[in-house]
Amino acid sequence: MQVSKRKKIVYAVVGTSLMAGTAVGGHAAVSHAEGSKIRTGTVMTKSDPLSVRSGPSTDEARVGSLKKGAKVKITCRTKGQWVKGTRSTTNWWDKIGPGKYVSHAYIKTNLWIPVCKGSGSTNGSLPKAPRNNPHPSAMSQAPNLTERAAHVRKEMAKAFPGIQCDVSAYRPGQKSDHNSGNAIDCFPGRFGVFPKGATKKEGDQAAAWLRKYAGKLDVQYVIWQNKIWNKKPGLNEKGWREHRHAGQVTLGHYDHLHISVTAPVQY
Ligand SMILES: [Zn+2]
Repeated sequence: MQVSKRKKIVYAVVGTSLMAGTAVGGHAAVSHAEGSKIRTGTVMTKSDPLSVRSGPSTDEARVGSLKKGAKVKITCRTKGQWVKGTRSTTNWWDKIGPGKYVSHAYIKTNLWIPVCKGSGSTNGSLPKAPRNNPHPSAMSQAPNLTERAAHVRKEMAKAFPGIQCDVSAYRPGQKSDHNSGNAIDCFPGRFGVFPKGATKKEGDQAAAWLRKYAGKLDVQYVIWQNKIWNKKPGLNEKGWREHRHAGQVTLGHYDHLHISVTAPVQY
């Protein structure tokens, strides 16, 4: 299982400039204003063009290519073949037009991309293990993260590129791990919206992955879907426990995962 999976990670870049004459996209999306429903990304290959495929896999027909630095208009994302790229190792593919897909492993974008409708087959397996957290427990002050929390943020971005993790603002008068830079909030979907379908499933996967690798990541507790799991002995064994704000989208952590790392003082 492990071996065959690793073999499936491929490089989607074409090694030649053969396809240069058929480059698609490029400047087409540049004119769209940011903040509109059109999401743009940038091709971040080392130098080679990036293949455009008719489906989310390098086994699908090559229907074009994109030069390094090209801007692409991303409609939505869907799961497919695992690809190791310059930005991440991921099985997310970005749909950039009807029958046109590029591996998200080579795409830079700061925008949240919706999951393609009807793309169904969400892979049930979790992303690979994160790197061990090498940073000692520490205190900082929001919006600055401790290095320990920043490590979790970085590993989350690699494992779940579709999930946006934010550093919180300082919250005066409140006890919060955010204030000491030891917590991040991660949104699989949109702020203030109950996630559904594949978006909810991705949040579930992230929660499972964080719990599984809490030791490696130095994660202390996670809140998601108004459930809290805490690594602390005595609580760990209880699994996911009901939290405090049932039915409230943000307070109940339905729209985001709260992740606290272990810290000298835990709030
Ligand atoms: Zn939080």
